[in-house]
Amino acid sequence: MAKSDIEIAREATMQPITEIGSKLGIPADQVLQYGPYKGKLSFDFINSLDSKPDGKLILVTAITPTPAGEGKTTTTVGLGDGLNRIGKKAAICLREPSQGPCFGMKGGAAGGGYAQVVPMEDINLHFTGDFHAIGIAHNLLSALIDNHIYWGNELGIDLRRVSWRRVVDMNDRSLRSIVSSLGGVSNGFPREDGFDIVVASEVMAIFCLAKDLNDLTERLSRIVVAQRRDKSPVTAGDLMAPGPMAVLLKDAISPNLVQTLENNPAFIHGGPFANIAHGCNSVIATRTALKLADYVVTEAGFGADLGAEKFFDIKCRKAGLKPAAAVVVATIRALKMHGGVAKENLGQENVEAVKKGCSNLARHLANVKSFGVPVVVAINRFSADTDAEVAAVQEVAKTQGAKAILCNHWAEGSKGTEELAHEVVRVVDSQTANFSPIYPDDMPLWDKVKTIATRLYGASDIIADKAVRNRFKELEDMGYGDLPVCMAKTQYSFSTDPNLKGAPSGHVVPVRELRLSAGAGFVVAICGEIMTMPGLPRVPSAHNIKLDANGQIEGLF
Ligand code: ADP
Ligand code: MG
Repeated sequence: MAKSDIEIAREATMQPITEIGSKLGIPADQVLQYGPYKGKLSFDFINSLDSKPDGKLILVTAITPTPAGEGKTTTTVGLGDGLNRIGKKAAICLREPSQGPCFGMKGGAAGGGYAQVVPMEDINLHFTGDFHAIGIAHNLLSALIDNHIYWGNELGIDLRRVSWRRVVDMNDRSLRSIVSSLGGVSNGFPREDGFDIVVASEVMAIFCLAKDLNDLTERLSRIVVAQRRDKSPVTAGDLMAPGPMAVLLKDAISPNLVQTLENNPAFIHGGPFANIAHGCNSVIATRTALKLADYVVTEAGFGADLGAEKFFDIKCRKAGLKPAAAVVVATIRALKMHGGVAKENLGQENVEAVKKGCSNLARHLANVKSFGVPVVVAINRFSADTDAEVAAVQEVAKTQGAKAILCNHWAEGSKGTEELAHEVVRVVDSQTANFSPIYPDDMPLWDKVKTIATRLYGASDIIADKAVRNRFKELEDMGYGDLPVCMAKTQYSFSTDPNLKGAPSGHVVPVRELRLSAGAGFVVAICGEIMTMPGLPRVPSAHNIKLDANGQIEGLF
């Protein structure tokens, strides 16, 4: 039987983190160590890199996800190791996993098989405490809001219009909607409130888009937390919150360095939701990695319609990053599902279904290319895949001018991504990339959403109720019209109906709500039910998690 991810991870021979750092030229005393295998880079060192040239940035994204799984993180790790294997100086950048979901469904977010980052138990749980810091910084602002109201509400906050909620890094549906300040006069003024999971906090998105500590503080001060009765905004700056919030974040904001199973450097830093936020690791980690490595491989959440679009239109636009290539991960299994095969029948060869499902891959390839970024397809190999099915994918990729390469990193590590690594290097070094976002800053917000929906999702139009259309105008009147939009829709379809697989077209995208993330610097367009506090399943994996006689974790992955 194949070894589990945790068994493989435990067999890894890790090197001291200072040695991993030295591969990128980081002096040992600039790695602030959290035990032998985890470190944060000092800001003195990061600032000293300013004048160095940047390496090449490669995005790993994927086809539309299905329950069959795609393996973006696994492929990001595999490609990073593959590039190192063929003699390149390469590093990877990943998001930090959220802790709450580990106790719900089994499975971590640190790669899989022989393409993982380690120490994987730490990375999946408390790690270096960044998410705790972000959660506490968020909740400090919540406390300051209610405290301000308690002591007389000088700012005139309308209690019914406090949009800043509270956060905790645990799947706990009972906290989605609560009433706070119950218990009498000395506890304040009761109001409706609720909790989101930490990754959904705007502080998380800010953390991941900030360029440095100053920028972090400025962004924190722009957060809109509530409105007055006349609907004018009250900000975190009005509540004098950014100072102490930045103090709580000052250590967390340094990027974390760990290693892959093959002892190559991996930066893991920040982890915003990919629906109501932009879903990629911190700008600080990406920029630092680009100064230190010739090739930097990074991942964006969900499929390319959401993850890659936000990576390009939000992160790269705002941070001035120029991606040199994108790798679109596909699995034969998922393509079969897009071609109409049920999950139970994925084990049988079905070339026709694969071909049909490739409509989904082809749309994503065309989309990524429309940003001026050249693409390579990584077919993440599962044991049941057949040669004929693989050939079918390669045919379709060719029609989009992309090479599709069968990769076996999950089973073999970097040996399984050598060919992919060579092709990525070829594409990157050919310098054909000419990146630009898909819409300009000064386009009206409505047209931005419409551009994404029609050009990338295949939609014929977008619609919204009058109240929502008014909100578009209200945000523009308030001066937020230049912000990019962050699309929040189902990740399971190009449309807003999760059951529409493949490459649907002609559908209409309803915009239900607009939310302002003024500190992060985007306007969220909500196009479906979006869950910001997950729940636990009937039988949570927490039931099986315990420490064994040797104090080792059992049942987590
Ligand atoms: P994503 O980043 O796209 O969400 P991951 O890389 O985290 O996906 O992979 C999801 C799960 O699928 C992991 O548990 C991983 O071990 C498993 N997985 C990935 N690739 C393969 C493969 N080729 N064969 C079997 N399992 C795989
Ligand atoms: Mg992932």
